[in-house]
Amino acid sequence: MLKASAINILDLQAEQVNSWLQSFDTIISDCDATLWHDDTAIEGAADVLNALQTRAGKRVYLITNNGLKTRHELLQRAERLNFQLPDETHIISPTQTIVDYLRQLKTFDSTRHSVYVVGNAAIARELNEAGIKSFGAGKAEKLEQDDRWEEFVQREFGQSAAAVANVGAVVVGWDEYFSYCKIARACHILCSNPDCAFLVTNKDAVHKYPNVCIPGTGAFVASIEACAERMATEMGKPNPLVLQPLLDADVLQPIRTLMIGDCCKIDVTFARNCNLQSLLVGTGSYQLETLRENPHLPMPDFYLPTLGSLLPYI
Ligand SMILES: [Mg+2]
Repeated sequence: MLKASAINILDLQAEQVNSWLQSFDTIISDCDATLWHDDTAIEGAADVLNALQTRAGKRVYLITNNGLKTRHELLQRAERLNFQLPDETHIISPTQTIVDYLRQLKTFDSTRHSVYVVGNAAIARELNEAGIKSFGAGKAEKLEQDDRWEEFVQREFGQSAAAVANVGAVVVGWDEYFSYCKIARACHILCSNPDCAFLVTNKDAVHKYPNVCIPGTGAFVASIEACAERMATEMGKPNPLVLQPLLDADVLQPIRTLMIGDCCKIDVTFARNCNLQSLLVGTGSYQLETLRENPHLPMPDFYLPTLGSLLPYI
């Protein structure tokens, strides 16, 4: 049955909040607009996550669809903003999920295959640290003024079938140098080799800021999916595959895990897909009123206006 609305934690009695806190022992928290905005921590969020670990004995993991930093770089940002975590294995990032996925993929052999990256340099850094070769990341690729398209195709794609077969995966992330030439190369590789994996950091279609809306990775992905006539596998929320390494390592029980996030469509859907409890915080685009006015949105189990407002209960 669909829930009418989320339970606002601030409407509960202290003992009810306490028993809710006892109902989970692991927390997975989204980062952007839940813990921080760009390089600024949201007030009280670090105090709450740190207290949940040190006072309440919870295990905390951070999760993000941000593919612009490696897992280690995300840990450095978290520490700089005063979030305490045991080590980088407590960060779930698309770049690391891509590495984990390729390592267990039977059709991918890192001694033989490389990865074509339509995306930023962080993806290449993460792959490189794992011993996986890649090309294309962080580079512009466009048709020059005097270059003829037919000659470009012949020069760039006229390579032997073996060269294409040596590309074991096409990975797409946010790419400020996205171009027709990149779509064409990805299309050529994916259409030439059905065994080539097609992975994306996320399918977030748009990033909305107070003064500007810009296309997200999902917009790039849609164009390549259309011409390659294949659907990409998402290495970010809400794909439950993202949680698989932690489930395989037996470090959490979904029924005893709380997912915290600011986005109904991504974070609450991820919680549902993984059978986790969900807590929506109102520091992003969705507040309690938004849920009431849009009953078709995935409804979280619980709501807090800001994560910091939980501190008095811990
Ligand atoms: Mg977020």
